Amino acid sequence: MPTDLPTLNAKLKFVGLKPVQLVQRDPNEIFAGAVTKNITSSEDEDLVEYFLADGYLGSAAFRKDGTLKSVSPWCDGRPHGTWQEFNSTGQIISQFDYINGEKDGLILRWHDNGELAFASECNGRNEKSTTASWCVDGVLKSWQIKEPGGESTAFICLACRYATYCEGWDHAGFSERGFLYNDDGDFVISWDAWDPTYVELVGEFTFPWLLTLEQQARIERQLLPAPIGGNFLFRNPARCLSCKHPLSPPLPDCIYLWDTKRMIRSGVGEKYPDGPLENYLK
Ligand SMILES: [Zn+2]
Repeated sequence: MPTDLPTLNAKLKFVGLKPVQLVQRDPNEIFAGAVTKNITSSEDEDLVEYFLADGYLGSAAFRKDGTLKSVSPWCDGRPHGTWQEFNSTGQIISQFDYINGEKDGLILRWHDNGELAFASECNGRNEKSTTASWCVDGVLKSWQIKEPGGESTAFICLACRYATYCEGWDHAGFSERGFLYNDDGDFVISWDAWDPTYVELVGEFTFPWLLTLEQQARIERQLLPAPIGGNFLFRNPARCLSCKHPLSPPLPDCIYLWDTKRMIRSGVGEKYPDGPLENYLK
């Protein structure tokens, strides 16, 4: 089990998170003085319940080879304290802080090679949180600040390190909305699968993530270029606002960053002030 994570606090400071003291406890220390209550077994693991010195009830799961899999303290039936998961070599892979059932404090995840993958500091019901993620080689990939008034997300260009900010992002898979980037990858058009113009264009009601290549081509041929230039094409990725290097990978293809200044949100009805898709066809 690793005992030190020398770069962690520097990383947290870098993204504006307060430096924190990691709760890295040795399993032997956790169980010292603990009174074991029940032991239950399943095919994959043995679950041990125990009382901690401070009176909290905890549970710990062990693999059949005896290695510790997870530690989960509880209070009055709700998660309370620091939950941790370990891989079979003893490397910590995730850590969550809870207070009375709410995630409150740090959420941390590590890559298999021990590099920090994700860090988030939240208070209470996620009203305010700061989040950062890193590539497997330790390079900062993104950060996000969420506040009651809104959120701001930045994706870091792996070529020039410029931070491209957006107001939000959408996952285009399994959704009723379609999304396309322009050639520069800095402007998004989105539409509703129920828009009659779209249905007519592709010949039948189809979720945008299920379109055939031929149906995609029909949409691409008919769409006007973006107001700031560039054709909307399905293969266009999100790009760095500074050097135009694609922001993916590590950004998945199905993630569309949006910003009200760099987006058309088309649709039928009052919900969509940009108007129906037909306004944007040749
Ligand atoms: Zn760049």
